[in-house]
Parts: sequence; C-alpha cells; structure tokens
Amino acid sequence: MSWNVEVDGGTCIGSGMCAALMPELFELDGAVAHPLAERVDPDETVLDAADSCPAMAITVTAGGEVVGPRP
Ligand code: SF4
Repeated sequence: MSWNVEVDGGTCIGSGMCAALMPELFELDGAVAHPLAERVDPDETVLDAADSCPAMAITVTAGGEVVGPRP
C-alpha cells in the first residue's frame, strides 16, 4: 500500500530540513515546502522526515491512518 504525504503550508516554517533529507520528495518553494509526489512507496526516510520536521508540518498516512510523524 502506498503512503500519502502532505505538508501543511500554514504550519511549515521553511526550515528546509525535509528537502535536505529527501530532496527527491520535498522541495522548498519560497518559505514553504511541498511534496513533489502525494503518493509514495513506504520508506523509512519519509517517516524520518516527518519526525524531524521542527513544525510537525508533515503528515504521512497509510490507508487513512497516520503513520508519521511517529509518537
Ligand atoms: S522540515 Fe517541516 S518546517 Fe522545515 S521545510 Fe520541511 S515541512 Fe517545512
């Protein structure tokens, strides 16, 4: 099952950490990051990006269940 990746543009503070960690998936567009794909194959690095976002702006879901950031 693929995962869905969202960045809340109203919460993102433009730190660029996600884009540094996964430039193939996250791009900084001005002061806000956005995912280059909404659906991705399960990948631990996507969860790492969600976990390390200082604004908790990245949400990863699998079949509607939130899998990242991890508790
Ligand atoms: S790590 Fe979080 S706050 Fe930083 S650019 Fe990415 S989504 Fe925005």
